[in-house]
Amino acid sequence: MLRIILLGAPGAGKGTQAAVISRKLTIPHIATGDLFRAALGQGTDLGNKAKAYMDKGELVPDDVTVAMVLERISEEDAKSGYILDGFPRTVNQGTALDQALEVNQQSIDLAILVDVSDEELIRRLSGRSICRTCQTPYHSENNPPKEAGVCDLDGGELYQRDDDKAETVGNRLQVYSNETAPLIHFFESQGKLVRINGEQDISVVEKQLFDVIDAK
Ligand code: ADP
Ligand code: ADP
Repeated sequence: MLRIILLGAPGAGKGTQAAVISRKLTIPHIATGDLFRAALGQGTDLGNKAKAYMDKGELVPDDVTVAMVLERISEEDAKSGYILDGFPRTVNQGTALDQALEVNQQSIDLAILVDVSDEELIRRLSGRSICRTCQTPYHSENNPPKEAGVCDLDGGELYQRDDDKAETVGNRLQVYSNETAPLIHFFESQGKLVRINGEQDISVVEKQLFDVIDAK
């Protein structure tokens, strides 16, 4: 039973690694960006509200985001733990999560920071494509699909996210450093932070993540 947070800048490899952890530990992978994009695809109010922020590379307001996550983690499949990817992204979100868990005598077990330099993040985001149906990420050079433009897992069409285009990426990295990086200290002061060098091969990062998780 583990509640894990994957922390890291856009493009650090959170989604790639969270998918493997979710499969191996049989706990749900809860990615706020995926939830917003799915809501947008379904044309819900939540999706339409999030779109304006996502397009600019800004954060969706905390109240909307926190409400969405608290609802998701209260679902049946999250009773045996979960891996959060892309949440919390502000200290305010981290505090709101802690308080909501505390009410049920629960807490986060581990916050893992996947650390990658800005230069490499830009290279990863510019080559990333994701599946239109399951949102699995690929990379044109580092992690290409077996057949160009097609998801290995479900045959869905791959596309480049609008916010992965160069004009938005700079702002997203700035937002990360201003609003999300303070969470590193937040989790460090709780004694929950572990850092991993995310600039290694996908398989090496995966192995080191499991070393940390298995030690828990
Ligand atoms: P990445 O995988 O590149 O880090 P995400 O898919 O997690 O990007 O997020 C895409 C966008 O969704 C963000 O730029 C932001 O607009 C919105 N978003 C995702 N998670 C959060 C969050 N926890 N708080 C506020 N906005 C969020
Ligand atoms: P995040 O969810 O943190 O935004 P992703 O998991 O979507 O990041 O990965 C960003 C891009 O980098 C994707 O194109 C992915 O295939 C690629 N990638 C992920 N991990 C690595 C790695 N360790 N080395 C090289 N490329 C990677």
